[in-house]
Amino acid sequence: MSKFEIPKTVNPDLDIERKNASFNPDEMAAFFWGKQEIVEMKRMIEQEIYSDLDDPLTHEFASYEDMASIAIKHAVAATKKLRAIQDRINPGGSEVYPTLMGGPVGAALMPAGNPFAVHLVMFTRALKGQGTPEQYEKFGRRADNCEIIGTFAQTELGHGTYLRGLEARADYDRKTQEFVLNTPTMTSYKWWPGGLGHTCNYCIFVAQLYIDNEAKGIHMFVVQVRDEETHMPLPGVHVGEIGKKLGMNGVNNGFLGLKDYRVPRMNMLMKNQQVLADGTYIKSPVSQLSYFPMVYVRCMVAIGNALMLAQGATVVTRYSVVRRQSPIDENEPEPKVLEHLTQQMKVIPEIATAIAYRLAAANLYLLYNQTAKDISRKDFSRLPELHALACILKVSCSYDSTFGIERLRQSCGGHGYLLAANLGNLFATATAACTYEGENSVLYLQVGKILMKVWADVLEGKKLMPTMAYFAECGQMTQFPNWTGTWDCLVKALQFACVGATRVAHRSYSARLKAGQSQPVAVNNTALELTKAAELHGRVNVAGNFYQEVVNGKGKDKRSPQFQKVLENLLELHLIQTFFRHLGDILRFVRVTENEISALQVRMEEALITLRPDAVAITDGFDFHDKVLSSALGSYDGNVYERLFDAALKHPLNKKPVPDFFEKYLKPFMKENAIKAKAKL
Ligand SMILES: Cc1cc2nc3c(=O)[nH]c(=O)nc-3n(C[C@H](O)[C@H](O)[C@H](O)COP(=O)(O)OP(=O)(O)OC[C@H]3O[C@@H](n4cnc5c(N)ncnc54)[C@H](O)[C@@H]3O)c2cc1C
Repeated sequence: MSKFEIPKTVNPDLDIERKNASFNPDEMAAFFWGKQEIVEMKRMIEQEIYSDLDDPLTHEFASYEDMASIAIKHAVAATKKLRAIQDRINPGGSEVYPTLMGGPVGAALMPAGNPFAVHLVMFTRALKGQGTPEQYEKFGRRADNCEIIGTFAQTELGHGTYLRGLEARADYDRKTQEFVLNTPTMTSYKWWPGGLGHTCNYCIFVAQLYIDNEAKGIHMFVVQVRDEETHMPLPGVHVGEIGKKLGMNGVNNGFLGLKDYRVPRMNMLMKNQQVLADGTYIKSPVSQLSYFPMVYVRCMVAIGNALMLAQGATVVTRYSVVRRQSPIDENEPEPKVLEHLTQQMKVIPEIATAIAYRLAAANLYLLYNQTAKDISRKDFSRLPELHALACILKVSCSYDSTFGIERLRQSCGGHGYLLAANLGNLFATATAACTYEGENSVLYLQVGKILMKVWADVLEGKKLMPTMAYFAECGQMTQFPNWTGTWDCLVKALQFACVGATRVAHRSYSARLKAGQSQPVAVNNTALELTKAAELHGRVNVAGNFYQEVVNGKGKDKRSPQFQKVLENLLELHLIQTFFRHLGDILRFVRVTENEISALQVRMEEALITLRPDAVAITDGFDFHDKVLSSALGSYDGNVYERLFDAALKHPLNKKPVPDFFEKYLKPFMKENAIKAKAKL
């Protein structure tokens, strides 16, 4: 149908960028994904699983009902494919299935979103992590095997953040040894769980536990919501879909009400706390254990959102060397838009930021795995540190990727607004993570409160957790040492600003406590300062980690000098850009002269210009398959205009030369106007 066939060759404007790169993008791929073997496995898997995919735009033109059906079809196909590969290359492992059901591979396989996502990330993990071995045998094994599909139903119509405000209740009936589950009000209906609408037949239902009408706090219950044969909602269950969202519309987020719904005592997840048959309640030995599953999801958000930013940066970098607009010198031809310095400033820092977050998220995941091993040996000592780090990286990464993707979208001009660019979908997916798994402002406050405790420990000379150790060092300095402008100096300036912000927040907070305010009221009144301190702590972590990886990273000796130089340029850009973003925060505590700031401005411009010729090679090194990018603007071959045309011609409206609405509405309207106009003559 297309008059403009998509060429089989690479756009020469993109080709020349690749030829002129200063380094081999395969080196970036191994660095970005952690190991050469991982890249090879990823490529092998992608070659196998993408060959028979539907056109990613198909679901966009479907009705909502059809889209839900397409999403399930895709999720089932993805599960089968990835499980088969997992069984073939490492039976019993998890690096292919379920891991690749999320992230870029999952997005390629399930472009409408993954209705099994919460099943995989939360339902199965909670059954394993919070259930007893018997409960795992009864529910967990079947869930792992996808004989049943579940979700995690915590948020209610009336409450998400404030868990103690949840109204759903579970009353223990010791006569029958059952819990009676109820959502007694409209606002106590569960609202949001992924897949709950019409996909899942089970869920973990989070409710206030009552024994003899005495509240025991929030607990988790395994609840069957639909018949396993007919999929009909069970008696006492009111379940459905909550409606169309900004994105991920195949995820089938749902609502759930329960009325006097009875489950056996053994349906309460009892690994850490128990209700005995006689109604005796046994508390969890470590309260933080209950949030351990959330920590995992926050790690996944940090990794996933870093990759989303990298995808956006890949699309826009490629587009920016193919798109030509506005001569810089009137006598010269139109340049690639990436030659405009403002375009470089919009695109290249996002490339650096994506790498910085990728590295920070990988380190967080390492800490998660170490902590999980410690916990299995009943050592809970690292949990507070993991919790603090997961919170702050989840927030920083979801915010920065969201705003970064939006900046990238705008830097494509009009074409960035088309669905075919796929930047809108990326944005919608990235921004959701600012809300779920702990709303970002609320997590900032949690970290701010942790920083208050850290500062109190500094004042008392106590030992700090490793990721907070800089508080002790900076806390001893009365003023920032001489400004040198080195990378070390830039990281230290951020640390100093964070410690300064924490110190003043602590001063305000303590004064409020001293004045008689309760702790929560004092926290609320100090919330802006706490948020600022937390935000800076996030920046310190990401920037400091990037610095360490580039300068002292394990694989540094194996890097080619050319690649090392590229990494150093990216680090330079990231550190200086972060400095400028927080200039006000830094100047509050660190003396930097106008000349020193001007020198950084010059260095930032130089970093942009130095990185410009390698921008395509760096993003090629992110190694995203075209099926993952799913973008007319960002495909590997750079045939942007042909792909835009191809996507436009696939639009259902273009199937017929005259749409139905012409005869129905448009023609009568215009004719009527013509008759009226004639009558006036
Ligand atoms: C795409 C998506 C998927 C989801 N999937 C699931 C799921 O599978 N299962 C599930 O149970 N839930 C799910 N949720 C729900 C999600 O977890 C909640 O929306 C989230 O926890 C925020 O809660 P809330 O909506 O009640 O926001 P609210 O808490 O009402 O937030 C509204 C505003 O109040 C502010 N606020 C609230 N409390 C405080 C405070 N203490 N201090 C300062 N400010 C505060 C917030 O910062 C925000 O600005 C999902 C949500 C989305 C968007």
